[in-house]
Amino acid sequence: MHYDLFNQHTIRAEVEFGGTGLHSGARVNVRLRPAPPHHGIVFYRVDLPGHPAIAARYDNVVDTSLATVLGASGVRVGTVEHFMAAVRVAGIDNLSVEIDGPEMPVMDGSAVPFLEVLGRAGLERQDAYRTCLRVESAFTVTQGDAYVKVRPADVLQIDYTIDFPHPLVGRQSYSWSLDVGSFRRELASARTFGFLREVEYLQSKGLALGGSLDNAVVFDDHGVVNHEGLRFPDECVRHKVLDFLGDMALCPFPIFGRFEAYKAGHALHNRVLREMFQRPGHAQFIQAATMVPQNLMRQPVPTLYWKPLAVAGNG
Ligand SMILES: [Zn+2]
Repeated sequence: MHYDLFNQHTIRAEVEFGGTGLHSGARVNVRLRPAPPHHGIVFYRVDLPGHPAIAARYDNVVDTSLATVLGASGVRVGTVEHFMAAVRVAGIDNLSVEIDGPEMPVMDGSAVPFLEVLGRAGLERQDAYRTCLRVESAFTVTQGDAYVKVRPADVLQIDYTIDFPHPLVGRQSYSWSLDVGSFRRELASARTFGFLREVEYLQSKGLALGGSLDNAVVFDDHGVVNHEGLRFPDECVRHKVLDFLGDMALCPFPIFGRFEAYKAGHALHNRVLREMFQRPGHAQFIQAATMVPQNLMRQPVPTLYWKPLAVAGNG
């Protein structure tokens, strides 16, 4: 899917899909509708009176313990991260997401089904400039020995390392950047993963009720339980990069910067955005200047082409 970097986009046509929530186990139906410029990505709980809205924003994240959960006025939508990664990488700025339950469907545990749905909907270029955010000064968020280091860059670059004491996982690292990487080929199909003992514990607590070998990679003490095995030898760390992209997509503006994550998760990912918006000078808004070639998506973003709009810190 190609789009120009400088204008906002929505989808061309309505599309519907459905599936099971990973944690609730409930069947949910989703309808995606085009939305006007500057609307952003907004979920609407159409199963509730008045169809309450929940904007897909980092400051609406209310839980990160098992998945990224958005909430507003006591209403929630959970497990939004894989969908949000697909939406951001597809170049969609404005979208209404009508959902009739408390959790996005997990589909196959990856982002591929969402890319397919968005591909069916098509892209519509809108008559409004897209605002982006560029990291301007380095900072680090930490939690125990886990961290995310953030540094200025004119591209989006993610270097992720995980370390799980399991013979098939262990220490894995993956580097991905928007200018040379392929989301579809390298990241989109990497599935959610879990360990059998954890799954049994979660299900005893009434969680992961929709979890199955059709929507997650499950490891037992020796190997992979799924008969089809892994999609990549390093599928787990690729999935973490996918999660990171999805959590960063809760910034209303595409971000350019370099992120080095170590043993991180949804909580730390969210803290990156909160920190970025709380401290003036960590990032600045940039907008494409006019009269610029529109086919730069596959290139590093040239600083020359951007003009600063304002200093962040008003988030
Ligand atoms: Zn995930």
